[in-house]
Amino acid sequence: MKYEIKITKTTEPKAKPADESKLGFGKIFTDHMFIMDYNTEKGWHDARIVPFGPLPIHPASTVLHYGAEIFEGMKAYRTVNGDISLFRPMENIRRLNNSAERLCLPQLDEEGCLDILKTMVELEKDWVPHSEGTSLYIRPYMYGNDEHLGVHAVHAATFVVICSPVGAYYAEGINPVKIAIESADVRAVRGGTGYAKCGGNYAASLRAGEKAERAGYTQVLWLDGVNRKYIEEVGSMNVMFKVNGKIITPALTGSVLPGITRKSCVELLKDWGYEVEERLFSVDELFEAAKNGTLEEAWGTGTAAVVSPIGHLFYENNEYTVSDNKIGALTQKLYDELTGIQWGKIADTHNWSVKVCEG
Ligand SMILES: *Cc1c(COP(=O)(O)O)cnc(C)c1O
Repeated sequence: MKYEIKITKTTEPKAKPADESKLGFGKIFTDHMFIMDYNTEKGWHDARIVPFGPLPIHPASTVLHYGAEIFEGMKAYRTVNGDISLFRPMENIRRLNNSAERLCLPQLDEEGCLDILKTMVELEKDWVPHSEGTSLYIRPYMYGNDEHLGVHAVHAATFVVICSPVGAYYAEGINPVKIAIESADVRAVRGGTGYAKCGGNYAASLRAGEKAERAGYTQVLWLDGVNRKYIEEVGSMNVMFKVNGKIITPALTGSVLPGITRKSCVELLKDWGYEVEERLFSVDELFEAAKNGTLEEAWGTGTAAVVSPIGHLFYENNEYTVSDNKIGALTQKLYDELTGIQWGKIADTHNWSVKVCEG
């Protein structure tokens, strides 16, 4: 073990949620949390699992003033074989290190980080819910924690992992969402932090999200920050379009988050013989396809929803319906394949599932 983890178990375990249909997202937390500290003298040290509770934080801590924070989002699944498993966890760990590099936060040892995640999930395995579609959401995060106000690369940081049992994303069936294309605010620009999974990107995106919601849309479709023309992402998901039988998804140019669901969908689509174009895709080209009837399907991809079909697109007073506002056949197939692998229902030919323990 790279990081020696000291475990202090709670003496007051909480009752598990009785009604798994009311779990929602990120509202309930398990009995424990993982914490580890970093400073330039000692490196990472004092890895510990302790009872879940508030974090002490110095009022001058870097994160509170300059927003040095990164995170990951992944899930532990209770498979039909009775195991608890993770989906492509090394991808999350590598992305966490890439995000850390961008924000001058310290690197984690990859294998050591996997051990931390497995140790946490195994300890909390009774919190992995049982109902169809539910899972244990894992939120690893790291923040700069220098205890003074000077602006510079961090000398002290903290890495934390918390876990939350979450409900089925599609408790009422997979319904397509209405998306507003945002032309005023931008989420990220090349050279900025768009490819890093950092809290600041979310802070910058809240205003447009609120505006879209007030107007009756579920999420925002982001355009690139320079030309305000090329499609980047939808809400906090990557986005894909099926146009004339081909799949088009924005290229990872630096302002798009490299989603693991995106990557998995691209790999599956190629396996199935689809041509996948990762390139610049303008909103004009999208609407041209919508008008001439070649836009067949559109969907977002992300860990929380897996896939989220897009039924309506709104842009500067034009509204388009996609796929008759129904989930498209290919969107459904991607959903079935990915969740089938995650729940252990179908063969995992890519070896994406990583077993943590018996359930
Ligand atoms: C996390 C995230 C995604 C989806 O990534 P997954 O690895 O598929 O969960 C997409 N866009 C943004 C902005 C994100 O933060």
